[in-house]
Amino acid sequence: MARAYIALGSNLQQPDIQVTRALSELSSLPQTTLVKASSLYRTAPVGYDNQPDFINAVAEIETGLAPLELLHAILALETLHGRERPFPNAPRVLDLDLLFYEGASLQTPELTVPHPRMHERGFVLLPLAEIAAELDIPGHGKVVELAQHCMDQGVERIVD
Ligand code: AMP
Repeated sequence: MARAYIALGSNLQQPDIQVTRALSELSSLPQTTLVKASSLYRTAPVGYDNQPDFINAVAEIETGLAPLELLHAILALETLHGRERPFPNAPRVLDLDLLFYEGASLQTPELTVPHPRMHERGFVLLPLAEIAAELDIPGHGKVVELAQHCMDQGVERIVD
């Protein structure tokens, strides 16, 4: 079994429900257990401003799936939620990214892990700091320290 972290995001069709549903679907993947989930966060869009705010979260899982099997499984969950890709950074009903997979460093056309932009994105680092503050992103440093540089990115924890 390997520990892995998945980022979840949505800004269409009741985003909080999309993300909450996807969290429970992660725990239903074969050979996979949901270990921890962050709070939900409301975040300003990145890359294309003319769209609704996002709801984001991060999950820690334990999985017996290999990295590519896990990628295929999360892409299938996106499809299940009706994900479409009309243009880069478009609004999305569900986005799932494989952030980190214990012991794996891969750069293939299909999968780059650790995720190449995770160390600079507040909507990933702030939820991740809640559940994995001490995680070290090779070449970039500890999540808790990286997150401190993202306080001005319009990422707000939703308190229920
Ligand atoms: P996106 O449109 O941002 O959801 O990108 C999805 C595509 O990025 C997938 O078809 C993957 O093959 C590719 N990809 C590469 N690395 C990753 C990763 N770490 N997590 C998720 N998708 C990835």
